[in-house]
Amino acid sequence: MQKASVLIVDDAQINRELLEFILQDRYQVFQAENGAQAIEMIESQERIYRLVLLDIQMPVMDGFGVLEYLQRHNLLKELPVIVISGDSSDESILHAYELGAVDFFSKPFSPEIVLNRVHNILSLYEHDYIDSLTGSYNRNGFIRMAENVLHNAKRRTDYALMFLDIKNFKATNELFGTEGGDMILRDFYARINDFWEPEVSGRLDTDHFVCLVKQDHVDLESMAAKLKITAQLKGRSMKLYGYCGIYCLNESDTDVSGMIDRAKLAEESILGDHVQPFAVFDDSMRRIYMDQVELMGEYESAIANGEFKVYYQPVVEAATGNLVSAEALVRWVHPQRGMVSPAAFIPALESGGQISKLDWFVADHVHKTILNCYKEGIPMVPVSVNLSWMDFYDDGLIERLVDIFQGNTLRNGDMRLEITETSYAALESDRAGILKQLRGAGAKILLDDFGSGYSSFGMLKQYDFDILKLDMTFTRQIETSPKVRTIISGIMEMVHHLGIKVIAEGAETQEQVKFLRDNDCDYIQGYYFSKPLPEAEFLAYVEKCRAEGRLGQTADPALRMTSVYRKSETVEPDNRLTRREMQDMLHGYRMIFDMVHLLDANALDRIRNQAESEEMLCCRCSNLSDPDQATRCLALQALKSRGEEAMVITVDGTCHEVIAKYIEVDGEPHVLELLRHLKTE
Ligand code: C2E
Ligand code: CA
Ligand code: CA
Repeated sequence: MQKASVLIVDDAQINRELLEFILQDRYQVFQAENGAQAIEMIESQERIYRLVLLDIQMPVMDGFGVLEYLQRHNLLKELPVIVISGDSSDESILHAYELGAVDFFSKPFSPEIVLNRVHNILSLYEHDYIDSLTGSYNRNGFIRMAENVLHNAKRRTDYALMFLDIKNFKATNELFGTEGGDMILRDFYARINDFWEPEVSGRLDTDHFVCLVKQDHVDLESMAAKLKITAQLKGRSMKLYGYCGIYCLNESDTDVSGMIDRAKLAEESILGDHVQPFAVFDDSMRRIYMDQVELMGEYESAIANGEFKVYYQPVVEAATGNLVSAEALVRWVHPQRGMVSPAAFIPALESGGQISKLDWFVADHVHKTILNCYKEGIPMVPVSVNLSWMDFYDDGLIERLVDIFQGNTLRNGDMRLEITETSYAALESDRAGILKQLRGAGAKILLDDFGSGYSSFGMLKQYDFDILKLDMTFTRQIETSPKVRTIISGIMEMVHHLGIKVIAEGAETQEQVKFLRDNDCDYIQGYYFSKPLPEAEFLAYVEKCRAEGRLGQTADPALRMTSVYRKSETVEPDNRLTRREMQDMLHGYRMIFDMVHLLDANALDRIRNQAESEEMLCCRCSNLSDPDQATRCLALQALKSRGEEAMVITVDGTCHEVIAKYIEVDGEPHVLELLRHLKTE
């Protein structure tokens, strides 16, 4: 990396030379004879100074004058100034500090002290420009340095901006751990510098790098080979694929940020292609880019003008086709362009950091709509809204969401949140508490697009979700791929085991629906049932479903038989209770439960023996294969013969789940989980 530039401002030549001598090994040193010259140099854009050593008493313009100028032009935030003066009176030092100097030392000075202070202050300020992981520039630093290079360039058309992305980087983190991932990033950065010898290079975020290069350093022939990387770590090796978008500069280009956007757009146009893992920004992309820039310019006013509309896509119960919930999807009804698909503006809003405002608009709107339905007595179903990973960094938004859920205006679960695995990085950093906070406030969380990326299982392992949304790519391949069919049924089994329900997305054909139904999928969302509908149409649809008796979960008729044992009818019986729902339901009985996993009959006995007499044991069995009523009766009998109270909850034909104080089937307790009741009152 280039040495940082330090500017020495002193009228005495001997002082300037002495300081230069002290600093020259570590820094690039420049000199100015007086304040006016210093300001001219700082403002000239010829180079970016990172620190100024400033004498106070000088002809033409003194040190105070320089400080005043820098302060007035808001430059001190980025450019630290150390004042050096023979006049070490308190008054003069104080005045320098007042004007924004960061440090002070008086002449004569010790070389060691000068070096150390300069070093410390620079590293404090470096934070703003330097990526601590790779030592490269971060986004800010890259933009500043690139602007600087281009300012001094003879022809901008000699340059290109490359945007590089490591395609399967998230997987390496899983394989090698974060530390291994970090090494790979440093290694990748080193290669970029070796291969293309950029003028400036930097890392924007996780695995996204940029560099400004001379065009004659970019050889497309050798590009593919250079982008194929084999990482060796801890004796394991892993293939990584770099993807590269290239933007060749025009003479009129000045905005580095815009160049990055265009190179990124080119990178995004590469479709999983390891043969040609690079793309050069061209005119067709230019049109897309112009569209996006134009749309982004109109975004703020579009929210205010009510151009964004919330659509609702129905979600049905797989077994019956009953309407059970909906997903809110935003649409931009543009006055000139008509309906703009979210695919056209959401990625741009995300990369521009503007998505949270829209997500709040949708959440707030849905909340109000649900409340209005309560008020007017209009039937409605629970609605989920989408959150972007970016929302996790918007504390204001999260607070307002928590307020909605804590406000008790909503009936349990009527509004839900969908998050995707792209939020994983945010959760992994210091944002994990937010998910807990939202759930704690009563929000149900849906894991969206499950299986579309690399961290799906990581997410599942680490965080609690209520519902998982199986990505459309699976549903689409049901008819054509036996492998995908096996994967789907495997996912269903595993996920159900965790007490999580599944919504399959994007079902369009009858075969898909049948397969999903036969493989225990709980809910389905897709064009087969309905496209997303405008609000008024959706409300009419809900009313129609209600009138036809197709609204809400079906109650298993068998449940009626056992309802005499239930103390409350407030809980809608469900045909497959999850662990969480069971907990919620039992909560209605004012009990607190501990979950204990039971592996065998002895374990159950042990727990029974440990339990105090007033304690009640409830168990839930999920492997009673006999669909016959007799099994249930057996369970009931077993309970009654012990003179204990029983609650039995039955489910669909293939699998029974029983909650009871104690249960044996053929003398063997087939128990998977046990709920131990701890008395509350
Ligand atoms: P998503 O969350 O995965 O939403 C599902 C998308 O699949 C929707 O596209 C929906 O219209 C579409 N879809 C549903 N069923 C079918 C089907 O059977 N076949 C096909 N081909 N497509 C189906 P849409 O509305 O265009 O939304 C695209 C993406 O935009 C969403 O994907 C979501 O990631 C994002 N999005 C939409 N609204 C919002 C929002 O308010 N906030 C945020 N952050 N993202 C949103
Ligand atoms: Ca979604
Ligand atoms: Ca989805």
